[in-house]
Amino acid sequence: MKNYYLLLCLFAFEVGMAQNKFPTKFEETRGRETVTYEEGIAYMQTLAKRFKTIQLQEIGTTDIGKPLHLAIFSLDRDFNPKSIKAKGRNVFMINNAIHPGEPDGVDASMMLFRNMATDKKLQAILKNTVVIMIPFFNVGGTMNRNSYSRANQNGPTAYGFRGNARNLNLNRDFMKLDSRNTHTFVDIFQTWNPDLYIENHVSNGADYQHVLTHLATQSDKLGGELGEYLRENLIPNLKLKMKQRKWDIIPYVNVYGNRTPNDNGIPQFFDSPRYSSGYTTLFHSLGFINETHMLKPFKQRVEATYDFMMAMLEHMEGQGKKIQQMRKITAEEVTKQEKFTIGWKMDRSQFDEITFKGYTPKMIDSKITGKKRLFYDRSQPVTKKIKYYNVFKPTLTVQKPKAYIISKAWYNVIDLLKKNGVKIQQLTKDQTIAIDAYYITDYKSYTRPFEGHYVHYGVKVKTVPQEVKFYKGDYVVFVNQPSNRYIIEALEPQATDSFFSWNFFDTILQQKEGYSSYVFEDIAEKLLKENPDLRKRFEAKKQQDINFRKSARQQLNFIYQNSPYYEKEHNRYPVFRYVKNQSLPVK
Ligand SMILES: [Zn+2]
Repeated sequence: MKNYYLLLCLFAFEVGMAQNKFPTKFEETRGRETVTYEEGIAYMQTLAKRFKTIQLQEIGTTDIGKPLHLAIFSLDRDFNPKSIKAKGRNVFMINNAIHPGEPDGVDASMMLFRNMATDKKLQAILKNTVVIMIPFFNVGGTMNRNSYSRANQNGPTAYGFRGNARNLNLNRDFMKLDSRNTHTFVDIFQTWNPDLYIENHVSNGADYQHVLTHLATQSDKLGGELGEYLRENLIPNLKLKMKQRKWDIIPYVNVYGNRTPNDNGIPQFFDSPRYSSGYTTLFHSLGFINETHMLKPFKQRVEATYDFMMAMLEHMEGQGKKIQQMRKITAEEVTKQEKFTIGWKMDRSQFDEITFKGYTPKMIDSKITGKKRLFYDRSQPVTKKIKYYNVFKPTLTVQKPKAYIISKAWYNVIDLLKKNGVKIQQLTKDQTIAIDAYYITDYKSYTRPFEGHYVHYGVKVKTVPQEVKFYKGDYVVFVNQPSNRYIIEALEPQATDSFFSWNFFDTILQQKEGYSSYVFEDIAEKLLKENPDLRKRFEAKKQQDINFRKSARQQLNFIYQNSPYYEKEHNRYPVFRYVKNQSLPVK
């Protein structure tokens, strides 16, 4: 017993020493300040120099031209992802400063790395887990330091800006990859294939007592055994571990404006793959977004973030093998899976009840506008059960093709697929192939740019079997891979964050040739005479549609579009679905 106490004292002494010797700026300022980019990197360099268990790597670049850093903690000093995986180690990935105005994770991770390197007690839970950490993902935003852009946030005194060097919100960039930052991120993610991913944020929205909320990936979307594990095991266990550390955590309070969680409950945030946790889901990696509450003091938020990462590490050490096993099975299953859901809708009829610790919301008179305004009365805290709508149902499911065939012309699309670890083959000779083509029959688009795009949504397609001439070297993507979910979300045009939605294929939406009516009149007459079926459809449409009857242009267009004169490329989606069973000449 005596020895035990002595040991404990030694541990405490050692951690205390480390803090004295390697204090972070956060600690030195008693939780008032966060590091600048230069300070943060210098600190991590110092740790990497001093401790053999830490390595700091420069990987790829970012939009501002500075490298993206990756810090690695590995107890047995092995920093090679391949051999680490071969040893069956868990990989736990942390991403910070994707939104640099929300820097809690930066300071918490610096302390975590220092303590992992110095605290023997902490090292006892790091025998099977390697931790990789991006100190600053949005480097440009971190360097754009100010004290105002987080108008609703309680510290630190200065911080970075949400937009990156190109004013992109990087947490919308995981499918379209407009930034070099995200290109580098994908390289890291695909190299390390983390079992668990956590990204540190600070919330916006409603006021309540909870310091930390979590936004795990939507479990129905994760699906199968992993989805159930996330919902039934991982989240309850994290909740318990956080409770032991005095934090009462609940799911992200996805409520804005004058709505309050107190009465309406909370709808679960739906993370399509433009978001990091939606992206990690496509590769069966358990993704967590950690949101501390903006109105809580910076010091408290960083401490909660630190504890949440610790709770994750503890969970990993005990359950990592099981998670790895489930991921392996899921990856095998998904290679054989036939149908994929790409549209989801919240099921309002199903919900969990959670204990919510809020403040009483009131509508009071505004001294500014003279109208009513929302006011959370902190003198009246309330604890109540509220509804948490966390079940999503499929609204659109597609049958996978055997393969997608893509012309070399769409090299940008091929580059992204390759970057994401998709195996791609190429046709070995010129050949006409019978495929299913999608025609885009309807879509809507944003009228103002969103993240540099006029995003499409409400996409409808019609499948038309046809023969298309392909050339040697054109690309064939077989849908029999562990990355099947990524392939489908990227290439099925109706998926929320498909390449089509993000404007990669907009040129096909424009007609390139046309006709002069006075010339086409005579051709149309001849066409109708020679084609009784076309005439029948034309007459029927005239009967049914009064606008059509009134419009000469519409009538001529109808005949034109049903004739060989109309270009088959117009609205034809250029990623073709190969659905036959015959093998293709590829290598
Ligand atoms: Zn954020």
